[in-house]
Amino acid sequence: MNIGFIGLGIMGKPMARNLLRAGHRLSVYDYRQEPVQALCEDGATAACSAADAARNSEMVITMLPNSPHVREAVLGKDGVLQGAQQGTILADMSSIAPLEARAIAAACEARGVHMLDCPVSGGEPKAIEGTLSIMCGGEAEVFEQIRDVLLCMGSSAVRVGEIGSGNVAKLSNQIVVALNIAAVSEALTLAAKTGVDPQDVFEAIRGGLAGSTVLEAKAPMMLCHQFAPGFRMDLHIKDLKNVLDTAHAADVPLPLSAQVLEMMQAVKVDGGGTLDHSALALYYEKLAHVSLKGDGEVSGP
Ligand code: NAD
Repeated sequence: MNIGFIGLGIMGKPMARNLLRAGHRLSVYDYRQEPVQALCEDGATAACSAADAARNSEMVITMLPNSPHVREAVLGKDGVLQGAQQGTILADMSSIAPLEARAIAAACEARGVHMLDCPVSGGEPKAIEGTLSIMCGGEAEVFEQIRDVLLCMGSSAVRVGEIGSGNVAKLSNQIVVALNIAAVSEALTLAAKTGVDPQDVFEAIRGGLAGSTVLEAKAPMMLCHQFAPGFRMDLHIKDLKNVLDTAHAADVPLPLSAQVLEMMQAVKVDGGGTLDHSALALYYEKLAHVSLKGDGEVSGP
């Protein structure tokens, strides 16, 4: 299939690479030249705008930071709608606000472009492996037309409902991950401050009910202060803001999500916005004056 791919960051670049490996023809666009050139060396064609990437494509994929970036790339000057033909399918795989996904989709539909929201979970390692979990919202018939393309990037692609539902599923995922990271940080900080080696506590609890994918992935990072992203704190703050906006619009109080958002914000203010979200542990270290690294020193980002 001819596919336009817009947004070649930590996630988009390996996802685009997997589409090339599966034999699709890609026209790629990003503000930054480095990933565009890298993809062209793998066989993609460089586009000079989002409109250009969409021009001869049956399908367009966007993988951008947040709602305003998607709005600009799709509806803005030289955006997707200025190049796309009637009947083009747009799969926005970014994590954005569900209400924005619906609004952008309505503007697309008015121009004959069918949009699905298809955010992903799994992070950079699974983007590279092509084993992302993909959650989709939109028309079932449109989803069926692109399911095989999505499965070049993921091990599962599940349609959860109408447009916007994909992002509701993603925000639910982000609540569970954020609260889990906070719980792991809290537990390991308690261990460290009471003189019990947090590494030993991790080993002791990982096989029990407290075990989780988050514990396995993030506790080792916290215990050696390896906070290279991964998933940037800034992006998780963005997701939790979208969580609360969505919840407020639907009259759903989410007290724990609100709390963890403010804790992440505090790490960001200390300079940790570009660190992995597991750097939330630094918030607890600062409160308790203890280091999970075991050197007894409190350290900041
Ligand atoms: P990133 O910041 O690494 O990449 C975004 C890319 O988009 C950048 O290369 C940027 O130059 C480009 N860009 C921004 N606006 C643009 C525009 N208007 N036109 C063209 N290019 C533009 O972000 P990422 O980590 O790849 O994340 C992308 C999305 O996926 C986000 O919504 C994020 O929340 C979500 N996500 C990320 C992860 C992760 O682990 N990094 C995991 C799951 C979901």
